[in-house]
Amino acid sequence: MNAYDAERMADVLAPEGFIETNSAEDADLIVLNTCHIREKAAEKVYSELGRLRVMKDERTAAEGRAPTIVVAGCVAQAEGGEILRRAPAVDLVVGPQSYHNLPALLAKAKRERVVDTEFPVEDKFDHLPAPSPQKIRARGVSAFLTIQEGCDKFCTFCVVPYTRGAEISRPAAKILAEAERLAAAGVREFTVIGQNVNAYHGEGPDGRTWSLGRLLHRLADVPGIARLRYTTSHPRDMDDDLIAAHRDLQALMPYLHLPVQSGSDRILAGMNRRHTRDDYRRIIDRTRAARPDIALSSDFIIGFPGETDADFEDTLRLVRETGFASAFSFKYSPRPGTPAAEMAEQVPEDVKSARLAALQDALEEDRQKFNRAAVGRTFDVLVERKGRHAGQMAGKSPYLQAVQFDDGEVAIGDIVAVEITETGPNSLFGRRAGQAGASGTTVRAVGANAA
Ligand code: SAH
Ligand code: SF4
Repeated sequence: MNAYDAERMADVLAPEGFIETNSAEDADLIVLNTCHIREKAAEKVYSELGRLRVMKDERTAAEGRAPTIVVAGCVAQAEGGEILRRAPAVDLVVGPQSYHNLPALLAKAKRERVVDTEFPVEDKFDHLPAPSPQKIRARGVSAFLTIQEGCDKFCTFCVVPYTRGAEISRPAAKILAEAERLAAAGVREFTVIGQNVNAYHGEGPDGRTWSLGRLLHRLADVPGIARLRYTTSHPRDMDDDLIAAHRDLQALMPYLHLPVQSGSDRILAGMNRRHTRDDYRRIIDRTRAARPDIALSSDFIIGFPGETDADFEDTLRLVRETGFASAFSFKYSPRPGTPAAEMAEQVPEDVKSARLAALQDALEEDRQKFNRAAVGRTFDVLVERKGRHAGQMAGKSPYLQAVQFDDGEVAIGDIVAVEITETGPNSLFGRRAGQAGASGTTVRAVGANAA
């Protein structure tokens, strides 16, 4: 979500004459796009701001003018004016719902230090300008597309409902217009995103409420689009439509990120996840029945308040029973203002660390097993960029694995059949399996700038 938002901020600033630079030293404007989900991410912002303060002072002394420093994202939303107090170098604090106002806010910040963490009534997406086709193309053939923001679920550990606000779904017509623009510029794959993406319930062009399953069907029809993914989804919102989409839509990649957080019913209840371990298993079974080759990934929180050895064993057992192709796992981090932060029975840090290490060992074993099973198979690979060595190209398998292969002839945006010959720690290696793709034919990139 932050990667997508950063692009939108660049788009809104482009007409003001700003261009992106790779180094803060060259910049007239520095925007820190921040994350508040765990304490570590939030604290990083202040250490970074400390460094930027030194740079700002040095440049003021050397050049007589200083870069403008902006804090955006969820730390901005959560801490607002507190950031101005703690970090004297900051000129503007702006929450995620106000990025369309950046030009006006920057003008104001020339005169005084500014905080904007409102949830405005107008739809920011209506006021965010579209990027140029060249810029879309430069960002790659795989694009994020926000369809939903915010969350109404209030898991007891999570800041998202406070920082991102209530659930909002963008109208389908606007999403489709953005999708068509991206595809016309050469995008081949969409990952539709939202804090709670499968809770999508946007207004359809027919006036009815559309589900994510319905929307995916329409996105699959956008000319040029070969692949669809969605993230992040909640088990409670895996409805029949969405599961059926995994059966019916070739473009919907056989890969599902479905966070479970814990395998213990007691802990799931404490987290207010509103599903049990068995519910989760049943959803997986139904999705696997719809799409037998689907690979799964998940998020886990270790050391939620009250988690015992037995609860943790339940999580490990769920991992062994399910077999995840990939996963993210975190130590529970108490967040100010959330109910779990106030719970008694906080788990000691060393216990959390030991459990996290054990869980990550189990997950890593499964990940490698999944990758080793790819050797000898032929996958369709969406070519995303040149590889590390001359003549090498790199892309993604349907299962989101990075794949490198030798072939200087194929173009970025092509989908080609690659036979996997080897696995490395983070990528698969392979060779082109003839002209025909695993799905029949090599698919040429289409779009204005693809030729
Ligand atoms: N909406 C998604 C998750 C969004 S947050 C869902 O409901 O599953 C992304 C991930 O960050 C979560 O899945 C969780 O594993 C992790 N996370 C959120 N709050 C956390 C906290 N307080 N401590 C540790 N991890 C946390
Ligand atoms: Fe946070 Fe996800 Fe729970 Fe919403 S559903 S509160 S985003 S963890």
